[in-house]
Amino acid sequence: MHFVSTRGGVAPTALEDAILAGLAPDGGLYVPETLPQAAPIDDGPSDIRSAALRVLRPFFVGSPLASQLDDIVAEAFTFDAPLKRTPEGLQVLELFHGPTAAFKDFGARFLAAMLRRLRSGAGTLTVLVATSGDTGSAVAAAFHRMPGVRVVILYPDGRVSPRQAHQLGCLGDNVTALRVDGSFDDCQRLVKAAFADVELRARCPLASANSISLGRLLPQMAYYALAAARSRATGKGALNVIVPTGNLGNAFAALLARAIGVEIGQIVLATNANRVLPEFLARGDYLAQPSVATIANAMDVGNPSNVERLRWLLPRIEALRAAVSADWVDDPTIRARIRDGRARYGEVWCPHTACAVEVYERLGRRGDTRTWTVAATAHPAKFETVVEPLIGAPVELPAPLAAMLARPASAEPLAATEAALRARLLATD
Ligand SMILES: *Cc1c(COP(=O)(O)O)cnc(C)c1O
Repeated sequence: MHFVSTRGGVAPTALEDAILAGLAPDGGLYVPETLPQAAPIDDGPSDIRSAALRVLRPFFVGSPLASQLDDIVAEAFTFDAPLKRTPEGLQVLELFHGPTAAFKDFGARFLAAMLRRLRSGAGTLTVLVATSGDTGSAVAAAFHRMPGVRVVILYPDGRVSPRQAHQLGCLGDNVTALRVDGSFDDCQRLVKAAFADVELRARCPLASANSISLGRLLPQMAYYALAAARSRATGKGALNVIVPTGNLGNAFAALLARAIGVEIGQIVLATNANRVLPEFLARGDYLAQPSVATIANAMDVGNPSNVERLRWLLPRIEALRAAVSADWVDDPTIRARIRDGRARYGEVWCPHTACAVEVYERLGRRGDTRTWTVAATAHPAKFETVVEPLIGAPVELPAPLAAMLARPASAEPLAATEAALRARLLATD
């Protein structure tokens, strides 16, 4: 199996090289050269590791890592993605049982397990990431204490939640958190400049862990395959899923899983007020927008990078509209869904999951009686400053999050200039 670029300007590339490169050299995103087919569903009991192997194995055919895929999966997938059924009949795919309590743990841990095996030579590899919140902590936790690797995270000072900042700064050891005097866009600009700096990269080998990485995208198919198997085992048929969406990584994994034969029916994207995807589907032409700040901040994206992959998979607008639909939710409605979540479903939602729940309720009002599954992307305790005032009660912390918050945290200040980042990367710790 080889990978090509969405922009068509790259020769077929091996999986390992595509993962190490991050972005394709022509500026596009890596996609499989052809769509493989997953093995037929096994009607026995399914677990996350066997579901992961079912969807990942075809992408590893011919790779030197194919023989290590079992070990990689065992190392990365150390927690479950339970499919719960609420008294109301809604199914909830809980993706927040990993170390940092958001779905990004699946992708970050798989990428880390891959890079551990791909790292060449004796020098230190620096994993460099800009984060607006959840990505940075998932990546930092996944690479924490990995020999030969250091992690440098840039985040906008004062613009992530206090708990998110704490999660970024509390690991220490090989993880350095840099609080940048600027915006998330500044952080991304600095990271891009570092990757473009050939001389810097010769002295300080860099690896990317951002959300366009194939090493994060592919493993996200696993929990959809698992949920599809569990849904089928309970007689519910194909999985109809509503996915909270920002950069479109998670939802694209669902589309890819369905394209390779996983038993998924409808896929619906739920965005916050950043509504470029619903508008794209409605109008037929894609128009990026400046992002707007919402209380579902991990989805504040005005130009989702994986749109390029979406258009590669479904180039014709009619086919795209048949394959996926999308709807958006404003902040007051997100608040309302969090407020009534306990009474209606016995659940406390994070603001991102609440967008999907609202879209589910709209489907019901239009008379849709199918069984739906909402992807719950984060634990509500990560967003306690939004959630607790709405439900009027504290949200209990999951154990891994409580352990992280109990550690002292610190971050180094960084000016928002390329020179400052360069100097910090070249300094010996
Ligand atoms: C990152 C994130 C999202 C958005 O996922 P994409 O893959 O960027 O679409 C949704 N919810 C939470 C909690 C997140 O951390």
